[in-house]
Amino acid sequence: MKKGLKLFTILGIDIRLHYSWWIIFAILTWSLSTAFFPVFFPTYTSIEYWVMGVISSLLLFVSVLLHELSHSIVARFRKIKVESITLFFFGGVAGITREDLEPASEFLMAIAGPIFSFSIAGLFYLIYAFNGNGYLHAISYYLYQINFIVGAFNLVPGYPLDGGRAFRAILFWHYKDLRKATRIASYGGRIVALLLIVLGILTFSGGGLWFILIGMFLYFIAGASYEQVVIKEALGKISLKELIQKKFLTLDPSMSFSNFLQKYKNTEVDVFVVKGKNFLGLLDIKQISKVPPKIQSRITLRQITPGYNSVDSLKPSQSVYDAFRLFSERNMEVLPVMEKGKLSGIVSQKAVINRLLWELKFSRKDI
Ligand SMILES: [Zn+2]
Repeated sequence: MKKGLKLFTILGIDIRLHYSWWIIFAILTWSLSTAFFPVFFPTYTSIEYWVMGVISSLLLFVSVLLHELSHSIVARFRKIKVESITLFFFGGVAGITREDLEPASEFLMAIAGPIFSFSIAGLFYLIYAFNGNGYLHAISYYLYQINFIVGAFNLVPGYPLDGGRAFRAILFWHYKDLRKATRIASYGGRIVALLLIVLGILTFSGGGLWFILIGMFLYFIAGASYEQVVIKEALGKISLKELIQKKFLTLDPSMSFSNFLQKYKNTEVDVFVVKGKNFLGLLDIKQISKVPPKIQSRITLRQITPGYNSVDSLKPSQSVYDAFRLFSERNMEVLPVMEKGKLSGIVSQKAVINRLLWELKFSRKDI
């Protein structure tokens, strides 16, 4: 979910654009310029329609961005940190560091978005109504409707839409069980998604494709969000200390590769810590590509070992869930655990996954 182009930072929040947005931007501009505006405002030239289409798409983007920021502003008032916002075509996803929100905070944060969308829809309606003609009249005609739709759509009680989040907050407050609340709310999300897809198929000739696209997207994120809550619940309270491997073989970065092969060919270890002055790296046997025998004696371990920086390492005070997230972002099999600039051990992705399976199988209630 985090993937996307970083645009800028506002109020300390990174604003990212999901890749899908570009395609949707193109399709939206195209359909506004060739269908929507010519149908409702038939007196313009085709260049004017394209200008209106581009401006409207950009203003929709700004509206969605402000909708997301309205969630973040409430979050800030409730002292919840929002790290980033990723904008998708019909909404955004806020990267909130804590998922164990208090029900009241989650409820207020969730409803802020639709309230904002309805307000801005009202504002565009006034612009539309008091500007009898011209571009502004036409553009605000589209924007008041689309913002109203964004507000109404987000109120649907399917997680992770805003309405679904508010719904989950109420369920969480009632059941005192976040997983149960998320499960029910994301069932809601999937039901809404399936209804949208059916509606899209029934109205296919009249623009139903949008419903199908939105439905498919919603179905996917409803499932993914629930899985994330389950994983977080299973691993979030387990200290990383439990999984730290304290015993590891430390090698000198200046050791030649041929020397290394000679010395460790019978070992069962497949990850070595390569540590020297100003250098720390993890040498994973599985990730070294073939080195021709001729040059093996000239190559040092430092040359084939990827170095680490603080971004790619964990701290002992973190949870196993933090490790899980870093592994899925970084695509590495082993990560170093550092404390005050010193290596205190290593953690493998395998250990994290095993622990997750263990927790899901033996320690938890039904999923
Ligand atoms: Zn929202």
